[in-house]
Amino acid sequence: MQVAVLGAGTMGHGIAQVSAMAGHDVWIRDIDESIVDDGLAAIESNLNEGIERDKVTEAAATATLDRLTGTTSLADAVTGADLVVEAVPEDMDIKHETVTEVEENVGRDTLIASNTSSLSLTEIASALEHPERAVGLHFFNPVHIMGLVEIVVAEQTSEETVDRAHEFVEDIDKTPVQVTDSPGFASSRLGVTLGVEAMRMVQEGVASPEDIDAAMELGYNHPMGPIELGDVVGLDVRLDILEYLREELGERFRPPQVLKRKVRAGKLGKKTGEGFYVWEDGEIVGTSGDWSDD
Ligand code: NAD
Repeated sequence: MQVAVLGAGTMGHGIAQVSAMAGHDVWIRDIDESIVDDGLAAIESNLNEGIERDKVTEAAATATLDRLTGTTSLADAVTGADLVVEAVPEDMDIKHETVTEVEENVGRDTLIASNTSSLSLTEIASALEHPERAVGLHFFNPVHIMGLVEIVVAEQTSEETVDRAHEFVEDIDKTPVQVTDSPGFASSRLGVTLGVEAMRMVQEGVASPEDIDAAMELGYNHPMGPIELGDVVGLDVRLDILEYLREELGERFRPPQVLKRKVRAGKLGKKTGEGFYVWEDGEIVGTSGDWSDD
């Protein structure tokens, strides 16, 4: 099968990697040659790490790299593709421009998939002349490690498209879950629900961030507690998602004051060195203790 991945960023290079590892010929496209090169270099580095950990053979790594072609031309990338997966920035105008250009360069049978994590797939599909071929393939970061792909079914998506999406996801050795296009899909909606309640509990002084995280890690076997996860994802990202879900689904997603205050102060979590926790060299070294005084 021929696969085209649009966007060689965080998600695009990972999607290209797992597709090539499954034996597909993969084109990866970005707007700048240096970004394409960085994406290909990131794939090589992941594969080398896999070799060191005995998860990937040298032969498999070489064959994977041989199946990958980088380009800055969208037309070159998608011509002849059976499946196109877009992983361009999370912006409806960019998504619309991208899928429209894709459709001008592919045949009627090509599936057009979006890796959007929050936008309406039905709205993305509405830019297509043949929207029944549109589907969401929502991968998780890092793509080569995470086992889940949400298959998001838009209002226009045909049954044949859904079946082909399932086949592809299983073929690349991931586990599909199917969700109807709705805000936050299944994963973000539930994940954010837990995260926002944990923040409210911190704000109300129910327990400290460490104790809430320990409760979920040790009591429920979560690999990481909801407060730490918020810091890792980025509190600004969490706030954006909550505001969107509140608009679409109601007040139960209203962002707590403590979260707004952190974001206004530039305390965005791991990436800025402080969120609910204080971070040094990617590790937690303490808590940022100004949460429960609203
Ligand atoms: P990213 O910024 O790392 O990569 C996006 C890439 O798209 C950039 O390299 C950019 O140069 C390129 N691009 C291609 N065409 C473009 C155009 N026309 N205009 C501007 N840039 C263009 O972003 P990402 O984190 O890989 O996210 C990509 C998509 O995947 C988004 O829809 C995002 O919501 C979704 N997603 C992200 C994550 C995550 O954890 N990062 C997880 C699941 C889904």
